[in-house]
Amino acid sequence: MNSNKAASCLDPFEQGAIRVKDAVAQILAATRVPDAYQRLPLRDCLYRCLSQDIVSPLDVPAHTNSAMDGYAVASHGLDSEGKKRFRIIGEAYAGKPFDGSIGPGECVRIMTGAIMPQQADSVIIQEEVDMLDQQTIEIERALGPHQNVRFAGEDIKQGAAVFGKGHFIRPADLGVIASLGIGECMVQRKPRVSFFSTGDELKSIGESLAKGEIYDSNRYSLYGLLKSCHVDLIDMGVVRDDPQSLRQALLTAAASSDVVLTSGGVSVGEADYIKDILQQIGNMQLWKILMKPGRPLTFGSIDEALFFGLPGNPVAVMVTFYQFVLPCLKKLAGMPVKPVPGFQARSLSAIRKNPGRCEFQRAIASEDDQGNLQVELTGKQGSGILTSMSKANCFIVLPEERGNVSTGDVVRIEMFDDYLRG
Ligand code: AMP
Ligand code: MG
Repeated sequence: MNSNKAASCLDPFEQGAIRVKDAVAQILAATRVPDAYQRLPLRDCLYRCLSQDIVSPLDVPAHTNSAMDGYAVASHGLDSEGKKRFRIIGEAYAGKPFDGSIGPGECVRIMTGAIMPQQADSVIIQEEVDMLDQQTIEIERALGPHQNVRFAGEDIKQGAAVFGKGHFIRPADLGVIASLGIGECMVQRKPRVSFFSTGDELKSIGESLAKGEIYDSNRYSLYGLLKSCHVDLIDMGVVRDDPQSLRQALLTAAASSDVVLTSGGVSVGEADYIKDILQQIGNMQLWKILMKPGRPLTFGSIDEALFFGLPGNPVAVMVTFYQFVLPCLKKLAGMPVKPVPGFQARSLSAIRKNPGRCEFQRAIASEDDQGNLQVELTGKQGSGILTSMSKANCFIVLPEERGNVSTGDVVRIEMFDDYLRG
């Protein structure tokens, strides 16, 4: 169903509104990956995107070695049952190989990770042997080739493409790159994000509240989200609902950032100046989006920076961040932007919904007694109820066309942690 069709089943209020995925597509089309790379020491490459391919200069493991503590032997001719005796002729440790070679009836005491001695092709684990004396072991079974052995290059072959450009480096990847002996990588520069809250009613922590005033919470949830995205961030505090101050703050933010985020001031209230100012100093697209929460979103640019005017309501801020800002930041960071994986879960909650808007309900996913996924709403879902977000581990995503959900219905869920993954 296209966006016009989805909108046509709505009240006139929604005419001209666009779908979430169309808004994301437009945002991504407007997002250019900066041509800016850095060569960094390996540890600093964590949670960055590679701007080079990593090709292995060596085999990993470099040599065929023992996977267990035991005795290395030449297995040839030992494939029949019955007692076999071996004389211990030396020892091999990880990093300290046995230099000689092994003949029939001989073995080398070998530790995990030690290079296999010449002629040896199998390791008998120490729990299987009888020690006849200090120099002699015996086993009572048939021996095949290649037992308890890790082959040279079995993990990574020399010359293999290990990671491609755009790969997001996670902890295991640091280990893999280290195992290749590579100490520095070329990575994409981190996106720089400036953000501030708008509103005359907002007070910072430590200030006392007059009647009608509230503490600024959006700047803290945005801080948390931005930190989880590993971007460089500039927290510009609270800016009053005053056109002059807002204009100045936006220009300052745009001059030093790839992305500028604000919260509040984008509805149609008298003190909602953001759109007017953006029109004067940059380019603006104001979308009514077929979603709940977070319907109005201002997106545009100021000079070289992209701009997101997020709603003021605390839940709407987070939902619009996950849906719209995050894909943009991923692209800026050099990552390929893929849809967030969805899972099918049985809803333990009945949910009232009219067809028309895509809803992002906050919920807790868990396993039932049979190990099947189930999901339950966190309670009241108002866009000002931020605890609905903090109790949740996922969104129940109800597409535009969907109507009411009954208890037991299957719904799509998207885990918060999956949004933040590379
Ligand atoms: P606005 O879009 O500016 O009209 O804000 C919508 C609602 O969100 C109002 O109830 C505001 O008080 C609230 N709000 C706006 N900004 C913040 C903020 N930074 N922290 C907490 N609540 C906010
Ligand atoms: Mg406001």
